[in-house]
Amino acid sequence: MDYSVIAKAYSRIEATRKRLEMTEILVELFKITPPNILDKVIYLTQGKLAPDFTGIELGLSHTLVHEALYEAFRVDKKLIESWWISGGDTGKVALKAMETKKQTSLFQEQLSVNFIFETMMNIAKASGSGSQEYKIKLLALLFHNSSTKNEIQYLGRLASGKMRLGIADMTIVDALAQTFGQKEDKGKVENAYNICSDLGKVANTLAADGIDGLDLIELEAGTPLRAMLCERLPGIPEIIEKLGKCSFEYKYDGLRVQAHIWQADEGQNIQLYTRQLENVTAQFPDVVESMRGAFAGKECILDGECVPVDINTGEMLPFQEVSHRRGRKTELDSAIKDYPVAVFFFDCLFLDGRELVNIPYPNRRERLASCIKTSDNVLISNSLITDDPDEAESFFQRSLDDGCEGIIAKSIGEESFYRAGSRGWQWVKFKRDYKSELNDTVDLAIIGGFAGKGRRAGTYGALLMATYNHETDTFESVTKLGSGFNDEMLASFSSMLDEHKVKKMPIRVKSKMIPDYWFEPVVVMEVKGAEITLSPIHTCGLDEIRKGNGLAIRFPRFIGLREDKGPEDATTTEEMVSLYNLQLKKLE
Ligand code: ATP
Repeated sequence: MDYSVIAKAYSRIEATRKRLEMTEILVELFKITPPNILDKVIYLTQGKLAPDFTGIELGLSHTLVHEALYEAFRVDKKLIESWWISGGDTGKVALKAMETKKQTSLFQEQLSVNFIFETMMNIAKASGSGSQEYKIKLLALLFHNSSTKNEIQYLGRLASGKMRLGIADMTIVDALAQTFGQKEDKGKVENAYNICSDLGKVANTLAADGIDGLDLIELEAGTPLRAMLCERLPGIPEIIEKLGKCSFEYKYDGLRVQAHIWQADEGQNIQLYTRQLENVTAQFPDVVESMRGAFAGKECILDGECVPVDINTGEMLPFQEVSHRRGRKTELDSAIKDYPVAVFFFDCLFLDGRELVNIPYPNRRERLASCIKTSDNVLISNSLITDDPDEAESFFQRSLDDGCEGIIAKSIGEESFYRAGSRGWQWVKFKRDYKSELNDTVDLAIIGGFAGKGRRAGTYGALLMATYNHETDTFESVTKLGSGFNDEMLASFSSMLDEHKVKKMPIRVKSKMIPDYWFEPVVVMEVKGAEITLSPIHTCGLDEIRKGNGLAIRFPRFIGLREDKGPEDATTTEEMVSLYNLQLKKLE
């Protein structure tokens, strides 16, 4: 299959803003794709070469892409740089370089999907001395052999890790369901994706065995599944009313960690993944070492939270302290000493060849307790099973005294299964913030920026923030955030945001407010608001409470960056609507 075929489909996708049309174009593309390369087409469409948890990524710097363009077309480097400065889109820069090239070679090979995929894979994997030159050479070869405008544009974007097609994973899930089954099969495809976190694998299975084949996708140690998430309620009585007798647990304020242990040829293998399925094993060698001694069985998948602890007192510290572990090797060595962590496990999803996600929570806890020998830094979460509000309230107070941010109540009913990748009422969080009226924080995606004035001239004066609408897969504006930053932070935001700047409103963004700059929703910030009000200007939950009105957060303040969250993990529009309703209830 020629790459030009999929590049053409991408340009059609980019031309529409409608999710249904995007899905239809994808279905057409998947139907004409030979089954043996369907996974590759899926990854390329996601702008990847492999699922995130493998750690294989492109994301080449624009300077390296420019060098490759120079190699391919010998266009003046300064000219290339000037195109980049004016547009910030490596795809467009690549196209201009191709159009400006002085002489076309007489014979150009057609670029096949396979060839592009393998070459990009070689680029992504190259490391060590001489690897930069090697990457430039390979990329230049691809640029040189591109014969259509679409091809070179999407190759440029793919290389820099910014496809910007506006296609969410769930749109691909929809398209796969429609290609290999019916619209109604979406749930089954989504489930399979939640279990293996790999749309390429899901597609291959569908191509080989159809919808029923998805049952063959099973949990496997070494392949992370998508994390289960919580809903929220305003008080303990409400939680007990909803869940009945349930397990209350400390809500540790750290980094979600999914631990996988299995036996490999070279001995026991342990890998740790975040909620974004990023492999963070290298950052926590101390945890890995302790787990080696703590786990008694052969293989398992455990879910937990990694929390920074005070070196002197053993008390828990704020979660931002974990970020010290993200440095380079030399810094990491000292960070391990200066910023120790403990991991609190709360779930066991797979144990010695048996999937446990479909057994009730109390049984999973039993398995957890039986397979882990606790130590100073490998522990099991504190829990209390009760339906007595007073007991639960004092457990909540104890959690705060011990440095946690609240509690999570978990259903212990017959159907208290682990629902990978979904936010549901099986788990309900209750945090300290909920005690004071509307002081809860929310996590919002940045979709726009307003040019700064006065002291903020030259940077952003305020940011346009959005919630994520899970139903429509769009980002809806909810507030204009201008306080809580100092000048230093603002300066660092500018450079961080520049790489996500786009010319027009991104496809998945819904906003009536027009900022000076648009950003692809990538960066997530934690924001504290004073109140939620109805607003004719914002699109969050538009028409849901009152016709013509959305919801807005008043007096928002920046609390911190949520580097652990992707845009789809931002507070959802649905949560915002329920927060608004909770607020009304409190006022009654
Ligand atoms: P928040 O921003 O309120 O911390 P969140 O939006 O990151 O929460 P939620 O799904 O709302 O995520 O809350 C669940 C998170 O709480 C989990 O992702 C996990 O990181 C953390 N957590 C801490 N302790 C527990 C626990 N005992 N059980 C489950 N999750 C826990």
